[in-house]
Amino acid sequence: MNKKHKEILENIRNEFPILDQKINGEDLVYLDNAASTQKPKSVINAIKDYYENDHSNVHRGVHTLSVRATEAYENARSKVADFLNSPNKHQIIFTKGTTDSVNLIASSVTNLIQENDEILISSMEHHSNIVPWQELCKRTGAVLKVIPINENGELLIDEYEGMISDKTKLVSVVHLSNTLGTINPIEDIIRIAKSYNVITMIDGAQAAGHFPIDVQELDCDFYLFSGHKIFGPTGIGVLYGKEEILNKIDPYQFGGEMILKVTFEETTYNDLPHKFEAGTPNIAGAVGIGASIDFINNLDRDLCHQYEMELHDYALERLEKIEGINIIGKSANKSAIISFVIEGLHPHDIGTIINQKGIAVRTGHHCTMPLMDFYGIPGTVRASFSIYNNHAEVDKLIDAIKLAIKMLK
Ligand code: PLP
Repeated sequence: MNKKHKEILENIRNEFPILDQKINGEDLVYLDNAASTQKPKSVINAIKDYYENDHSNVHRGVHTLSVRATEAYENARSKVADFLNSPNKHQIIFTKGTTDSVNLIASSVTNLIQENDEILISSMEHHSNIVPWQELCKRTGAVLKVIPINENGELLIDEYEGMISDKTKLVSVVHLSNTLGTINPIEDIIRIAKSYNVITMIDGAQAAGHFPIDVQELDCDFYLFSGHKIFGPTGIGVLYGKEEILNKIDPYQFGGEMILKVTFEETTYNDLPHKFEAGTPNIAGAVGIGASIDFINNLDRDLCHQYEMELHDYALERLEKIEGINIIGKSANKSAIISFVIEGLHPHDIGTIINQKGIAVRTGHHCTMPLMDFYGIPGTVRASFSIYNNHAEVDKLIDAIKLAIKMLK
């Protein structure tokens, strides 16, 4: 990394006011980015500006503030469309987050699923990409099948190919595992699914903030992510869908905004995307996600990715030298997330002790209990890196873990 790049990265860190604080008397080291990223000043200011100057309800008003709020909301939709290279902005639906997006699809595709149809997910899915499908299966009599992984945490593509058949109606797979850091070969997964005319859904909650996504190139039917994991606010998420399928499936919530005409006898639904956005939307959240996309677009994404992986490799090299450590997730294609367990120690105890040193990591099952069962562990300690972290923070993490081991053993 040359001097200019170092300077760029240091300046990025200065954009995040929350990082400049003490926790338990120590500098905060925030390594819980897979759970939620911190927010740059530009995102915080965009939300503040919106509420100070432009807020009203959207789509319904003729007055100036309503027109401005509508413009701000729809402008954010255009930014998301460009961010994903969606062919147009009406294929972008704002939701509460990834979980809400999965629930929307799993509810809305009900009319396309019949008894004994099969839904495929993978062994490394987040609960939000498991439970909604279990519910769909209960309602329809469809069967949920799980694509296995190997010990390294890599999907077994040959097994997947053997599982898919004319009975398969939908495949839903995570792009980047929040627990293992595995980057799945979604291009292959989608290609194989397409050869059987199977609907494809990609959970991009972890991926969208880390590398560019091109939904047209991927050719998936649905792609989803959450604002709060890409430096944006909580409570706002995205569902991209192909126009043909969005037109074919039913809305899953009903009320204002999503209608064209209502009588007591019957209702006609609105056009896309409004058909799927019942009620007053999270306008400030949309403004915030728009600002987070502007922030990302101003970054040198290759440099950021390279830097995050440099931090990952440095941390991994140092962690692997700790006696009794077992890294969970050793995929050849991996992102800047490291999960680990230490023999004889509970992840929560490690997390609690290193918090005393100002270090924020996540401990537990990371909403992937079946994956924990696969590895036969109750949970892991997970350090997940972002562009504002640095090598000194990795050193602090290592020292704190060594201290925790000393105290707990
Ligand atoms: N999918 C993955 C891979 C995740 O990491 C998460 C959150 O951690 C989710 C889905 C759910 O996202 P949200 O809680 O923002 O709805």
